[in-house]
Amino acid sequence: MSIKENLLKIREQLSAGVQLVVVSKTYPVEAILQAYDCGERVFGENRYKEMAEKYNALPRDIQWHMIGSIQSKNVKYIAPFVSLIHSVDSEKLLAEIDKQALKNGRVIDVLMEVFVAREETKHGWNPDELFRFIETGAYCNYPNVRICGVMGMATFTDDQTVVRAEFRLLKQVFDRIRKTIPSATVLSMGMSEDFLIAQQEGSNTVRIGSAIFGKRI
Ligand SMILES: *Cc1c(COP(=O)(O)O)cnc(C)c1O
Repeated sequence: MSIKENLLKIREQLSAGVQLVVVSKTYPVEAILQAYDCGERVFGENRYKEMAEKYNALPRDIQWHMIGSIQSKNVKYIAPFVSLIHSVDSEKLLAEIDKQALKNGRVIDVLMEVFVAREETKHGWNPDELFRFIETGAYCNYPNVRICGVMGMATFTDDQTVVRAEFRLLKQVFDRIRKTIPSATVLSMGMSEDFLIAQQEGSNTVRIGSAIFGKRI
């Protein structure tokens, strides 16, 4: 199957209003251009260097989303152009994004990554920690970032009951955050293997790579 055929198949399965983030990490610019030529404009990367290189090599109307963990010291490399950072897992990182946004004369859109999975390898706020940060108004100390919603990942397992329960929890966290920040409208959850379940549980943004480009080597 070609990239185009894969994309058409994914699009058929997406509900109305669900944003596709084409996860292009590890794939070459030629592959990205094929998806671009099919009309895709939102691409996700998880390494700042790779993202900056691709940004420089590809058309300027692409919106680049950072979906992987990024160290504070590297935010400066993507701050001039990044469209949305999905993976804000600490106040320290948020503070650095705020600082770099100000330096670049812009506001940077971010999602708060919430940890709901069973695996220790995944990053993110625990829900209570995030509720405290939001509901005490502490987030207002960072006026150069706009908190646009929540991102999360389910445990890597074939057990759909576990995956569904974790997505449901993410949706609950999202709904509670929105009581304080009504403009936070993005719920980013779902990847190649689990985006159908994520959609059923209320996702409005899915991050899909291998189902479009084929398995990563
Ligand atoms: C790699 C990655 C994806 C996409 O994974 P696929 O299985 O290739 O669809 C989504 N989200 C994050 C955070 C990732 O690192």
